[in-house]
Amino acid sequence: MKPATKLETQPAVSPEALVRPEVLTMAAYHVADARGMVKLDAMENPYRLPEGLRAEVAKLAAEAALNRYPDPGGAELKRRLHAVMGVPEGMALMLGNGSDEIIQVLTLALARPGAVVMSVEPTFVMYRMLAVAAGLEYVGVPLRPDFTLDGEALLAAIERHRPALLWLAYPNNPTGNLFDRSSLERVLDAAPGVVVMDEAYHAFAGTSYLPELGRRPNVLVMRTLSKLGLAGLRLGFLAGPPAWLNEFDKLRLPYNVNVLSQLVCEAVLAHPDVLDAQARSLVQARGELATALAAIPGVTVFPSAANFLLFRIANAPAVFQGLKARGVLVKNLSGAHPLLADCLRVTVSSPEENRVFLEALRAAR
Ligand SMILES: *Cc1c(COP(=O)(O)O)cnc(C)c1O
Repeated sequence: MKPATKLETQPAVSPEALVRPEVLTMAAYHVADARGMVKLDAMENPYRLPEGLRAEVAKLAAEAALNRYPDPGGAELKRRLHAVMGVPEGMALMLGNGSDEIIQVLTLALARPGAVVMSVEPTFVMYRMLAVAAGLEYVGVPLRPDFTLDGEALLAAIERHRPALLWLAYPNNPTGNLFDRSSLERVLDAAPGVVVMDEAYHAFAGTSYLPELGRRPNVLVMRTLSKLGLAGLRLGFLAGPPAWLNEFDKLRLPYNVNVLSQLVCEAVLAHPDVLDAQARSLVQARGELATALAAIPGVTVFPSAANFLLFRIANAPAVFQGLKARGVLVKNLSGAHPLLADCLRVTVSSPEENRVFLEALRAAR
């Protein structure tokens, strides 16, 4: 029994002694338990693929070479994305296991000592989380109370902090709005580092910076298939000048997009009309849901160019619980940021699920 004795006499090393302090104070990204709920908290597309395409996916999965590593860079899938998304000639692509992974790769690549990562706030939380995890300074510049871009404040912050990396979600999450183009132009001209336009919701927005790629050497565009209907496959991509992407690609883990995701994404992107039609019906539903929501006394709905709506309602945390008790899960943003006091965010879903949500809300408020 000697080994046991030896083990006991070793000094205990606690995680607190070794894990970096910025990690110890971090909270893990919170995902609510949604079992049995009408799930309207994560901007998922409620629609599945049509029967024919599902059969094709089944066949691809059955015949896939699961014993082999995937294509390391996803060359075929990148070719398809280039064509389907209309990526300008001469621009490179990098694939990520979701766009979250791309945020991580860029953050690590630009993590020189003293470098600053910047965005607006409130915005997508992963920008901050991954910057802090990489030991970087993060500066969040507040939006105006109506969630429009405070161009002057952002320009002043850029001048002061000279960010190596600036994230701009277009449309923004969790607010749903598009920032004003003329303010953005000035910001893009002034930014001394890499600027990424995060277009996770492009399919619902009707506007994009993708066609402008190449006009400014430091501006990149990131997109994901998650909000478009393929959240389970985890595929994001970054488009931009090859000079930047060649550097970032060194930090991407080999084989980061698995065999099944590559095959299925290729197959679905061969029928872009399928996801486009679903997005169009969600845009239609967004208008109807916004109108119905705004008609409920005490509710303020904010303008959205995404597949979700942000709204303000008195006692939002209690309303959130009331919705949950009625089997409807939305996102409670009250407390996430002072500007989001009493705000809830709901995914735009099918007409049936939107009706269930509206009924639950009328009962819960
Ligand atoms: C959902 C979301 C992402 C992450 O998407 P994945 O590709 O699923 O990792 C990135 N940016 C914004 C603004 C989002 O809302």
